[in-house]
Amino acid sequence: MRITRMSLQYRWRLVFGLIAIFLASGFQLALPILIGSAVDAANGLDDGSFVIANTMAASAVDSTTDIFGGSDNPAKSALIAIAILLFISSVGRGLAAMVQNYMGESIGQNIGYQLRMLYYEKLQRLSFSYHAGVHTGDLITRGIVDVEGVRMFVQTALLRTVFLVVLIGTGMYLMLSEDLVLGLISLSFVPFVAWRATAARLKLRSNWYDLQERLSALTKVMDENLGGIRVVRAFASQKHEMDKFDEASNETLALANVQVGIRASSISLMGVAFMLSMAAVLWVGGLKVIEGELSAGELTQFLAFMSILLQPVRQIGMMINGYARGSATGGRLFAVLDIDPAIQDKPDAQPLEITQGTLEFHNVSFGYEGEHTLNGVSFKAEPGHTVGIVGPPGSGKSTIAHLVPRFYDPIEGHITIDGQDLRDVTLDSLRKAVGVVEQDTFLFTASVEHNVAYGDPWAPDDRVELASKYAQLGDYIERLPGGYDTMVGERGVSLSGGQRQRLSIARSILLKPQLIVFDDSTAAIDAATEQRIRAALTDLTKDRGTIIISHRLSSLMHADEILFIEAGKIVERGTHEELLAQGGHYNDLYELQIRPNEDSRNSQDEGSAS
Ligand code: ADP
Repeated sequence: MRITRMSLQYRWRLVFGLIAIFLASGFQLALPILIGSAVDAANGLDDGSFVIANTMAASAVDSTTDIFGGSDNPAKSALIAIAILLFISSVGRGLAAMVQNYMGESIGQNIGYQLRMLYYEKLQRLSFSYHAGVHTGDLITRGIVDVEGVRMFVQTALLRTVFLVVLIGTGMYLMLSEDLVLGLISLSFVPFVAWRATAARLKLRSNWYDLQERLSALTKVMDENLGGIRVVRAFASQKHEMDKFDEASNETLALANVQVGIRASSISLMGVAFMLSMAAVLWVGGLKVIEGELSAGELTQFLAFMSILLQPVRQIGMMINGYARGSATGGRLFAVLDIDPAIQDKPDAQPLEITQGTLEFHNVSFGYEGEHTLNGVSFKAEPGHTVGIVGPPGSGKSTIAHLVPRFYDPIEGHITIDGQDLRDVTLDSLRKAVGVVEQDTFLFTASVEHNVAYGDPWAPDDRVELASKYAQLGDYIERLPGGYDTMVGERGVSLSGGQRQRLSIARSILLKPQLIVFDDSTAAIDAATEQRIRAALTDLTKDRGTIIISHRLSSLMHADEILFIEAGKIVERGTHEELLAQGGHYNDLYELQIRPNEDSRNSQDEGSAS
């Protein structure tokens, strides 16, 4: 119903499509009547006898010499008139069918386009909580296969339903009203063919889905093999890999064979049923003609009707399959389109107004699924100040980083920037004001310049270069063969983990956000380079709030306040010196990470001194 309603917006195309349907049906149904009349007209020459062939041959010879010649033979004139009408009907039917198909396809393509855009737009807005729970591959399949299913429904089922109802309905009515018994025999193939065509189509469809799954498994095997080509070669596992591929490939072949089998057998069965009905009509009708109850032309008309109805009856299968597929794919698609994103702008959301740039967590608790990941977290990041967050893996450090740009909302408590609750401001303004440098960096297949300027494609070159220099990436980029125009990402130069992280830092600082969160974003960068980055950024961060999340103490020892977090709770807080003095977890970590290095450096110094 929803897809049909969507089609209604293409009002004029629908109107033209429907007019074309009535015209096409009318012309198509005129053909058997005209053929029947032609036979009778020709037959008129012999006064009811059955020398149809002779008559037709004779009139054909005559008409070539005397076309439109106002023939003195009335049968011949009638034949010529009918031939002209037949010609007009065939051309008319062809043209109307063309308009009908064009309109159906065009509405289908437009709806496909519309749904694809709506779907993609929805994916941009769905919250992380949704994306975390679904497989990316499934989402991509929906965007491609399901949109295609809906499009095909519009194209093959929607207008066709009207066409088939009008054509088959009127055809049946004409046959049955002409001769009830013969009509019933002529139509005897209809239920069988319609059933076979539908069953085969539905089976083909489910088989098609299996086949698609097998093909995607095949793709996965190939993809993994190519992705892990070094491992495969290093472990000399080509044979094993070939076997894996062979197995997946064999399953695909088996399903493809089933597909061919269904198609071939159903076509043959439908052909047999049709021929049997035709034989029955010839027999019963022939007897009626012999007894003079029926003219040869009327019998011909029945046979011609049957031939004309065969194709549309077979299309019932296509139509029903279209409905089945349309409702299944449409259902899946609309399920996504109907989701209300958990995180979205309130109707009265205002842009964030930065007066100072103070971020504050007020007793914030949060959990991804039921269990609390964060418990009563409170802290303040003021302009020019740095807050360091440290703690064991899985303690909730990244979760704090995710709450700042409102990837998720707290379950309890609230987060403010300059007193404005994050839930009351527009997402756009919030995400422009805070820059989160994630640990995993995604590179788009584009030039280095475009990757750095992702957040502001119109940033002038010198700003892109400056941001890269701050992130200690400038020298490396300049040494690349194409400089800032070098392509990176999957189809370009591959960057090391540390280089990616530096690119990500450049990408964020280019935007000069009011608040910067580094979420373990220097994990793959050596300590000396990190030191240089921090020194370069001092200027930028002096009037901005900075949050540094790290498992490496040297990254955040200098912070104005350090939070030690464990199992979602802040268990220690203070400056580096205060925390060392407390002699707690932070001190333990310090003993483990920093002290040994200091000791060894001291002993080295002593050694060199001596
Ligand atoms: P940290 O950054 O300190 O290593 P995280 O904040 O990433 O820790 O994770 C805290 C806890 O939340 C972990 O137990 C982790 O498994 C869980 N977690 C993280 N992200 C998700 C998610 N998207 N869905 C469900 N649980 C998550």
